[in-house]
Amino acid sequence: MAVKVCKFGGTSMADGNVMNAVKKIILSDESRKYVVVSAPGKRFSGDIKVTDLLYSCYDELKRTGSCDAAFAKVRTRFESIVKELNLPMDITSILNETQRRLVEEKSEDFAASRGEYLSARVMAVLLGATFIDCEDVVFFNEEGQLDGEKTYKAISKAVEGLDMAVFPGFYGKAANGRVKTFSRGGSDITGAIVARAVNASVYENWTDVSGFLACDPRIVDNPRHIKNLSYKELFELSYMGANVLHSDSIFPVRKANIPILIKNTFRPEDEGTSIIPISQYKPEGNIVTGIAGKKNFTVILIEKTHMNSEIGFVRKVLSVLERENIPVEHIPSGIDTMSVVFDSKYAKDYKLERVIDGIKNDVEPDIIRVMENVALIATVGHGMSSSIGTSARLFKAMAQANINAKLIDQGSSELSITVGVRNEDCEKCISAIYHEFFS
Ligand code: ASP
Repeated sequence: MAVKVCKFGGTSMADGNVMNAVKKIILSDESRKYVVVSAPGKRFSGDIKVTDLLYSCYDELKRTGSCDAAFAKVRTRFESIVKELNLPMDITSILNETQRRLVEEKSEDFAASRGEYLSARVMAVLLGATFIDCEDVVFFNEEGQLDGEKTYKAISKAVEGLDMAVFPGFYGKAANGRVKTFSRGGSDITGAIVARAVNASVYENWTDVSGFLACDPRIVDNPRHIKNLSYKELFELSYMGANVLHSDSIFPVRKANIPILIKNTFRPEDEGTSIIPISQYKPEGNIVTGIAGKKNFTVILIEKTHMNSEIGFVRKVLSVLERENIPVEHIPSGIDTMSVVFDSKYAKDYKLERVIDGIKNDVEPDIIRVMENVALIATVGHGMSSSIGTSARLFKAMAQANINAKLIDQGSSELSITVGVRNEDCEKCISAIYHEFFS
């Protein structure tokens, strides 16, 4: 029988009422056998997510050796959820044991992971399903990367013979035996891992929006809903700031061609967005699929006559960044110019100065300039490769909105065009490009 994995995000776990709606969704389709949950999110604007409360527990623990004050808030959240749902479980003992371990482990990752742990314990009782702790089935290697083979084997063994199972998202076990989390929003990755391990027919990701929109609705009113995205388009848009799904969620499912379906817990009847392999991709007739942007990048522009004939030039520049442990996002280049673009969070604490000195020293450029506060905007879509004049339209729209492109990068697959603009032009630029292609 085809099985589905469904992952429910923080707002779907926020209180007993929503958790009951989640239960109804799960039980309405008997192929929904494996459930992955996040920690309870915000119930109202201004509320605090349980994961953030747990990071405060760790801070308090570091400062004072105990976390009584911060953990009291976590305790209240879970006690009230269990009370609301009227569940036959001793949540107080589970919370006491959690707090004891928190003090014993004194680890930020361990503290942060407990929201998912507790949420999954509650959900398992609500569904009458088996709880599987990801500490026992999700493994990281020495480099801190997911150990896929070991993990998939452990999960498929753990679910053998089970009718229904609930997994906490966001964490697993590091090579040193301690609990380690993915980056924020990482329960999406756990959902994809479980889907791959059980060879699911689909990975349903239930959240609080009805899928992807062609751009951020805070920038353009009512942007077009995207019905289908390829894995590659999803990666580009999520990476560049479309906040629906963690960008790393595609890697486990892509290899096995498992589609991802984004659905809205609060409007389950809405169609959502399907993320599918390119072979199954149904173009919706648009040149552009979506536009996303991210602020705060640093660009180093390097000019040197005959750079193109100097063997190893780019490698030498990149080695300087490698020495400083800075990941590079883009390397737009001309005949005797090249730029390196990286997230400004890596340019702090004298690092930028060391990088500049290193480049001056190692490649002796004629000119080296730094631009900060740059936003990158990616215009993404498979339709762009087959239509002539897309970049002309994009740059005309920017010119009409009086926006200067500080850098331009078009991948050779023609899946996306990335432009760099001043941070303060970011929203205006997204809006101009959107209206050019969608109005
Ligand atoms: N609870 C974690 C976070 O807030 C992970 C997740 O929700 O996916 O980032």
